[in-house]
Amino acid sequence: MGSVESLTNVKKIVENINEPVVVVVSALGGITDRLIRTSQLAVAGDDNYRNEFDAMVDRHHGIIDAVIPTGAAHDALKAKVDALLDELRSIYHGVYLIRDMTQKTANVIVSYGERMSSQIVSAFIEGSQCYDSREFIKTVRKQNRNLVDFDVTIRLVIQTFARMPRIAVVPGFIASDANDGETTNLGRGGSDTSAVAIAAALHADRCQIFTDVEGVYTADPRKVRNTRKLDEITFDEMLELASLGAQVLNNRSVELAKKYNVELEVLSSLNPVPGT
Ligand code: ASP
Ligand code: MG
Repeated sequence: MGSVESLTNVKKIVENINEPVVVVVSALGGITDRLIRTSQLAVAGDDNYRNEFDAMVDRHHGIIDAVIPTGAAHDALKAKVDALLDELRSIYHGVYLIRDMTQKTANVIVSYGERMSSQIVSAFIEGSQCYDSREFIKTVRKQNRNLVDFDVTIRLVIQTFARMPRIAVVPGFIASDANDGETTNLGRGGSDTSAVAIAAALHADRCQIFTDVEGVYTADPRKVRNTRKLDEITFDEMLELASLGAQVLNNRSVELAKKYNVELEVLSSLNPVPGT
């Protein structure tokens, strides 16, 4: 989700699938880190939070201008994203003035990354329908973590997609609390878990996770030479690799895929070769 090139590839990949598909998107690359960094500056009373915020505005505007030609669709998308950015600016201003940020506020702040990227991807993939995953991905609080409330989520996902559009675009990562409806999320890298939960609920044929590496390697190909891509790996082996530091898939997504028997495929969004 980093560049015009990768977004164009996503569009091609999705449009080449000749059956209904749910596209689960993460925030534009680096944005979640930036949302968090901006919060930290604002709560510390550091004026530089405004520069960080402006950089996020520029990033979103830049992507919108690059992928959507000028015209009504462009203006409609820009208006939607700007409305979200205005809200976010006010929230940061409040955090800066009060010098306080509760968990609830932090969760709302990080939700904007996926809320904006899903609007952008949905506008880019013409004819797609955009959803708000907080309406069907529900979490419960356990030991200070928000975990997917799977019974409720399955029911709501089935209900939401009872009439499947050809292409649905869904923000990953974000969710809401099953009890009070507050905005929550599935933890860093949580879009993978959103995708697996939806695939499991809909009994999807498969769940493909597109990333910046071509699959699961015996070691991180970005750091180690002579690594080998694995054609296949069991869920348990994948969990083992993750415990050794592999970051290719979010651990909870692998646990969920194992539990609900969802076949996962990890592949590159930039290089269309068979993945793992
Ligand atoms: N945007 C979130 C993160 O950076 C979730 C994800 O990318 O899967 O952690
Ligand atoms: Mg990821």
